[in-house]
Amino acid sequence: MNVSDSERISSVLARQGYEMIDNEASADVVIFNTCSVREKAEQKLYTRVGHIRHSDRPKPVVGVMGCVAQLEGETLLKKIEGVDFVLGTRAIGRVADAIAKTLKFEEPVVDLGEREVDYDWTVADKYRHSPFVAFLPIIEGCNKFCTYCIVPFSRGRERSLPASEIIRQVLELRRKGVKEVHLIGQNVNSYRPPTDSGLEGFAGKSPFSRLLRAVAATGIERVKFTTSFPRDFHDDIVEAIETHDNLCNWIHLPVQSGSSRVLAAMKRGHTVEKYLAKIDRIKASYKDVALTTDIIVGFPSETEEDFQQTVRLVEYCGFDSAYIFRYSPRPGTPAYELQDDVSHEEKTRRFIELERSQKYMQNRRLQRYVNKVLKVLVERKSTRTSSGLSGHSTCQKVVNFVGKEDMIGSIVDVKITEIKANSLFGEAV
Ligand code: SF4
Repeated sequence: MNVSDSERISSVLARQGYEMIDNEASADVVIFNTCSVREKAEQKLYTRVGHIRHSDRPKPVVGVMGCVAQLEGETLLKKIEGVDFVLGTRAIGRVADAIAKTLKFEEPVVDLGEREVDYDWTVADKYRHSPFVAFLPIIEGCNKFCTYCIVPFSRGRERSLPASEIIRQVLELRRKGVKEVHLIGQNVNSYRPPTDSGLEGFAGKSPFSRLLRAVAATGIERVKFTTSFPRDFHDDIVEAIETHDNLCNWIHLPVQSGSSRVLAAMKRGHTVEKYLAKIDRIKASYKDVALTTDIIVGFPSETEEDFQQTVRLVEYCGFDSAYIFRYSPRPGTPAYELQDDVSHEEKTRRFIELERSQKYMQNRRLQRYVNKVLKVLVERKSTRTSSGLSGHSTCQKVVNFVGKEDMIGSIVDVKITEIKANSLFGEAV
């Protein structure tokens, strides 16, 4: 969501004549698009603004956007000297106004927007990480209130974009040459549009599975979606993937812990058994769906036995990759009130052990791709080899291979010859 928001901010500014440059030192405006999920990102912001303030260069306009801005609002101006504007997650569309007001009145601007009514669904156009791939926010906010997470407080309640508008945007992106859309949201499969408009006639129990079928029907070459919330993940989503060739075979389903006791303490709304039933259904699919997840180690009260259950879950599920985090208490969340009773050293030990198990499983799992032909959307020249190209498979693997530059932007068949830690290597066939 944060990467997508950055692309949207730059695209909104491009429409007003601003240009993105690589070199921060010569920029007239520097914007920090912040994330508050982990403490480290927040601390980095304080350091980076400090660097700008103390440098010899003429001072640029400095803006803070994203979740830290939304949560802290005006208090950020007191905490960090040198910030000119603070814009919340719902005020992306007004970023150019904020810069103009700052310059005109020479005083700080704070705009947090109205939580539920003000969300701006702008889709990035000029600045995207790839001209052939587009993020499309379809649901914003979160109603789940997992006890460790700040997102429901920073992003507010869930709000879904009407399906008819999503379809219109996908068709527009397709017309502009986009090959792959990623439907995104904190919990993309909790999608609940205000009306049925655009979903009529599409089969499925859950609105999200119907939306998937409706988006597939636009004829866009590839559709991916992330992130899915386990409790709202129904079989009809897998059925939709199985029915439509352009719905890609990759599901990111964060489990967070392999202990049902810890999951209850996290208020995740699912047990290990329920999660595994969904994994079994996904793994039974003929489409060989790649599975990825997020896991937190060292949540308050997590015992060695709870942790070992997480290790066993990782071994059972065989994730294609997993983002593993050490728990860090976030002020303002319910878990912040709990005793952070797993020591930093112990969290690190569990993190290392789990990473080792995951890497071992991942390596075994990725072996299944050797000698297989994957369809790769070629996005750019590879940084790994001089004559190489790089892109993503339908199962969201980075694939590097040798090929001609004019392949960029097309989908090519690549036979996989080698597996590395986080990417695959192959040859065009
Ligand atoms: S589902 Fe839980 S972890 Fe995910 S954004 Fe919502 S509160 Fe945070």
